[in-house]
Amino acid sequence: MAQSVKGTRDLFGNEMGWFLRIEDTARGVFARHGYEEIRTPILEEIEVFKRSVGESSDIVNKEMYEFTDKGGRHVVMRPENTAGVVRAMIQHKLLVNNDPKLLYYIGPMFRYERMQAGRYRQFWQIGAESFGIATPESEAESLLMLMEFLHDLGLKHLSLSINSVGTPECRPAFHAAIRDFFQARETQFCEDCHRRIESNPLRVLDCKVPGCQAALEGHPVITDHLDEASLKHHARLKELLTALGVAFEENPRLVRGLDYYTRTAFEVLSSDLGAQSALLGGGRYDGLVKHLGGPEVPAFGWAIGLDRLAMLMQQLHGNAPQNPPALLIPLGEAASLKALTLARDWWSQGLAIQLDTRGTNLKKALTSANRQGTQLALILGDGELEKGVVSAKDLSAGTQETWLLEEVPARLRNR
Ligand code: AMP
Repeated sequence: MAQSVKGTRDLFGNEMGWFLRIEDTARGVFARHGYEEIRTPILEEIEVFKRSVGESSDIVNKEMYEFTDKGGRHVVMRPENTAGVVRAMIQHKLLVNNDPKLLYYIGPMFRYERMQAGRYRQFWQIGAESFGIATPESEAESLLMLMEFLHDLGLKHLSLSINSVGTPECRPAFHAAIRDFFQARETQFCEDCHRRIESNPLRVLDCKVPGCQAALEGHPVITDHLDEASLKHHARLKELLTALGVAFEENPRLVRGLDYYTRTAFEVLSSDLGAQSALLGGGRYDGLVKHLGGPEVPAFGWAIGLDRLAMLMQQLHGNAPQNPPALLIPLGEAASLKALTLARDWWSQGLAIQLDTRGTNLKKALTSANRQGTQLALILGDGELEKGVVSAKDLSAGTQETWLLEEVPARLRNR
């Protein structure tokens, strides 16, 4: 029997229920903040990621689903969505006047990762990006939106960590400091860090290997090397968050490794997630639009993993809330036609009615309704038809009432 491809999975039932609930919540919150949804293709040219995510990153180096299509184009199934959004913005000339542009996306991403709990090769992300605004206020706004979203999902035990990675101008001095520090302790660092210190020194700071974390004790701190404007920016963001009552901690090891990342970097951790504690990450990427061939446009954004969020929701709240429709069960031919007519009328009034169109007997219909989790069955047999009523059977309570047909919409609304 065919199976889903390793690292991918089918979403249905309860997990699907949580996905929908999370997506609906995101759409509601983001729309209130003036963010518009954008959907970019899953396939992008490989250059989009090489030039954005970066050739020194694991994502580009080891994890991309890339292939040559029948027309000889070298394409990638997107490993993340920021690069695609920026590509789209440039292609459609949406950033030319430097007007703010607030966008969000929801969709599947693909990374050929080593398999572990909560890590998939096809996973989903929700992300928000704001273009054209360079202020700490725009970051505070985006973080407030994020917190509102997480709060609306009922998530607790979250912590926000922030840092500043400065600008490409102030980074060489910091790179020199971190290289000196590294060289004095070379043997204590892992092989990957030896590679990183050459290609992407900031990345040494967020190496997850315990030995490297220990060796980093007393490392130079980037906020000591910030230029004046970056320092002011960072101080203002902290001032805003404090005044808004958004709790945060400063984490000098939190970095985004590539040159177009500027100033603010942040992540949100959840103590309910165990080893996979990072729920999301983001930051400012003022250099990216230009780097991908567009105008010079500042930008700030973040991405959250939907799979991990759904797992957390299940852990905290149990199964996704369900609201199954009432099931209308007609018995006999005359009742079947009447049921179609009635249901059409009720659907048009916005009521949730599932119609049993199988033409089975009542016992079978009720047994399968019970199995499917139906809570209310509306039975329409010859007797009911004659009197202009339905028998409304509450399947969980086991009680039954008679409702006049014209009362049904109001009664369903009141349930
Ligand atoms: P990143 O784009 O690597 O910064 O990841 C942002 C978020 O996406 C992470 O915090 C995770 O919640 C989620 N994520 C990244 N990779 C995976 C994966 N392979 N499987 C599930 N979730 C992932």
